Amino acid sequence: MHRAAFERLNKEREELGEVTYANPRNFAAGTIKMQDSKEVARRPLDCFLYSLNTDKIYFKTHWESLQTLKSWGFHVSEHSKLVNSINGVFDFIKYWEEERFNLGYDIDGIVIKVNSYGQQQELGFTAKSPRWAISYKFKAEEVETILDQVTYQVGRTGAVTPVANLKPVLLAGTTVKRATLHNANEIERLDLHQGDSVFVEKGGEIIPKIINVNLSKRKPDALKIIYPTVCPECGTSLIRKEGEVAFYCPNDEGCPPQIVGKIQHFIGRKAMNIDGLGDETIENFYQRGLLKHISDIYTLHEKSDELKGIERFGEKSIENMLKGIEQSKEMPFEKVLFGLGIRYVGETVARKLAFGTKNIDRLASATLEELIAIDEIGQRIAESIIEYFSKTEHLQQIELLKAAGLQFQAKEIEITLQSEKLTGKTFVISGVFEKFSREELKDLIESNGGKILSSISAKLNYLVAGDNMGPSKLEKALKLNVPLISEDDLLEMLK
Ligand SMILES: [Zn+2]
Repeated sequence: MHRAAFERLNKEREELGEVTYANPRNFAAGTIKMQDSKEVARRPLDCFLYSLNTDKIYFKTHWESLQTLKSWGFHVSEHSKLVNSINGVFDFIKYWEEERFNLGYDIDGIVIKVNSYGQQQELGFTAKSPRWAISYKFKAEEVETILDQVTYQVGRTGAVTPVANLKPVLLAGTTVKRATLHNANEIERLDLHQGDSVFVEKGGEIIPKIINVNLSKRKPDALKIIYPTVCPECGTSLIRKEGEVAFYCPNDEGCPPQIVGKIQHFIGRKAMNIDGLGDETIENFYQRGLLKHISDIYTLHEKSDELKGIERFGEKSIENMLKGIEQSKEMPFEKVLFGLGIRYVGETVARKLAFGTKNIDRLASATLEELIAIDEIGQRIAESIIEYFSKTEHLQQIELLKAAGLQFQAKEIEITLQSEKLTGKTFVISGVFEKFSREELKDLIESNGGKILSSISAKLNYLVAGDNMGPSKLEKALKLNVPLISEDDLLEMLK
């Protein structure tokens, strides 16, 4: 969204007596989320292409792909620059720190990328982001305001997070009323006192944070902010685990926000993804005593009289919800496992555990050594899993969920054991795989008529590439234009 277009738009709205938009960023983000393409088309948004994503590799470098996009007529930022050293990167950052104010649009930082696609592939990804790209954020805008009070939120894991409630202030185009304080250490670091005048900053979409306190404005009798020793929701004494900064409420079976949070996590999009059941409904059902545990979701169909009595919850909504709940019984084991909300078991870890142990009983009885032997599972995660399964309440929940018909067994991957589907094709296997060992992949290819080669040549048909593949192999394959395929691609070929 160009600044000029934004100002023009706001002026028009002002003249029509309509509410103006806060800033170009929110306006653009709001537009992208709209489902009305006609309205979106009317809005003056522009677009730069930053990368070209394809299955096949047509270019050796990112720079080459950008130049090609430009030659095809797409908008590509004219300020992108190819540099050959880290000093070149720093010079670029320094230049734009000032020069950015002369651009026709707002930017909050710069993205630095590794140019060679070969090196990008070699570096790969973490669970969340590529290792070959990083953003540099410019120093964010800062304002001063008054700290009203500090309140404490209890999350689904029991972590107690302090939140600063502020005297509303305009910052980077939006009104800021709250700022995160992360944990008890942060309150200590800032040495926060009641009524302090604080400096707040906000960068991009990040929640505003307090940078420091204006000590010259502190009243002599101001009281120090003291982090609580008991849970603000249920009164249980808080605990702190060794090596961790957060304090926890250990009452995970009796602390209301933890119970609600756990059920909300379970139905969430990345877990069971239950249609017709949202966070507010969970909260509502909990207040009414309809839900106390995750497993209660699967008894809701027996409570239709109570459900019908709820205001603004019509027959159609109930029907949709119950249908969504029924369908969730088909969600694969790894999603169920993630949904249980075991501490440190995120999406990726849940998948590794599901495929690594195959079923919940083996997972529940696994020893520390057995868990650590699974790819990507370390000491901290393993200990958390053992602690989780040592609690009777958790085992009871799992039994109830099993009885309700949920999936607690990893789906065997359907493969054709013997066919002629790969006859005449040659493969090289390299790297580490998620679903198969290298030996299993080799058997799979050979039993379907394919041939395994020991080295990469121009004649090779496919390189089956896993994680941590050797860089020289990758480079050679790219040079010879050998198609890289994943284990999933291979399974697709066998279907
Ligand atoms: Zn509590």
